Amino acid sequence: MGKQTKVLVTGAGGFIGSHLVKRLKKEGCWVRGVDLKYPEFAETEADDFIIGDLRDPEICRYITDIRFDEVYQLAADMGGAGFVFTGENDADIMHNSAMINLNMLEACYKRNIKRIFYSSSACMYPEYNQMDPENPKCSEDSAYPAAPDSEYGWEKLFSERLYLAYNRNYGMEVRIARYHNIFGPEGTWQGGREKAPAALCRKVAEAEDGGFIEVWGDGKQTRSFLYIDECLEGTIRLMRSDFTGPVNIGSEEMVTINQLAKMIIEISGKNLSVKNVPGPLGVRGRNSDNRLIEEKLGWKPSMPLKKGLEITYAWVKEQVEKSKKA
Ligand code: NAD
Repeated sequence: MGKQTKVLVTGAGGFIGSHLVKRLKKEGCWVRGVDLKYPEFAETEADDFIIGDLRDPEICRYITDIRFDEVYQLAADMGGAGFVFTGENDADIMHNSAMINLNMLEACYKRNIKRIFYSSSACMYPEYNQMDPENPKCSEDSAYPAAPDSEYGWEKLFSERLYLAYNRNYGMEVRIARYHNIFGPEGTWQGGREKAPAALCRKVAEAEDGGFIEVWGDGKQTRSFLYIDECLEGTIRLMRSDFTGPVNIGSEEMVTINQLAKMIIEISGKNLSVKNVPGPLGVRGRNSDNRLIEEKLGWKPSMPLKKGLEITYAWVKEQVEKSKKA
């Protein structure tokens, strides 16, 4: 029997981290999770779970007491447009996430842990390439001259460069993905940090038949959304490849936000209209460009958006019904 792969997942109490732990456990890895909190919607499947604040370098040293084969660094202070684009959380977003990345990289380097994955975001792409909702440009090489539209994006760009510097100077085998709007069950669906797919699923689930739901902006802004299982597939494939990145992990099925809302309404079977109202927005258009991932990994996401939305809507609807009863 081969040696069991030992994996550390930081941010394991969050949406992507908790799903990643499940996936790695299915593969037979030994997994330690670390987060400020346990996963909200299901018991963690990690072999070991440590509650700890990764802004503290002592904690980062403490959790790297084993020479892990793989570290997935997913912890960040983050949320959807209502959290990232209002400006009110900018100092926390930049400070907290940068501290986590500085500490985790240094702790891994000192412990001679070589392979570390970093989840960057499509929010680091320059705003000037995303003004036309029909034709956003998000090829990996279009990142510079840098001009992200949020401090969240600037922190991601800084941290990408930090990981790349540890790769160059210290031989760390870093792997960097730029995620594009990941969604699925067991993600935040209320409270202010939820993102568009979960927020719209909630609004549709809560709406009375014959009524309407509110959608932020004119609804003509475009995005693509990637289902969680495909995000994990891409993440693990990248981690175990020879390619450092950064590389997009996202869907190329671009829709307007109004189209997204209408797809969810159709799934619900309700008769609802869409009312566009002012709200925090982000760039006009964004879509993944999957040429590089296909070239480097021989793989790219392929699941239709509708299929992922069906699963997610069913889950959010269940949460809405549970919270009504409570
Ligand atoms: P999430 O907010 O659900 O998970 C992040 C986790 O990090 C949370 O559980 C949080 O408690 C934890 N955390 C924050 N500060 C911490 C600290 N000081 N110490 C320990 N843990 C801390 O977010 P997610 O959607 O699972 O995203 C995971 C990663 O992927 C993040 O780095 C995020 O920026 C990146 N990303 C996500 C998306 C997306 O659409 N979900 C898109 C682009 C990039």
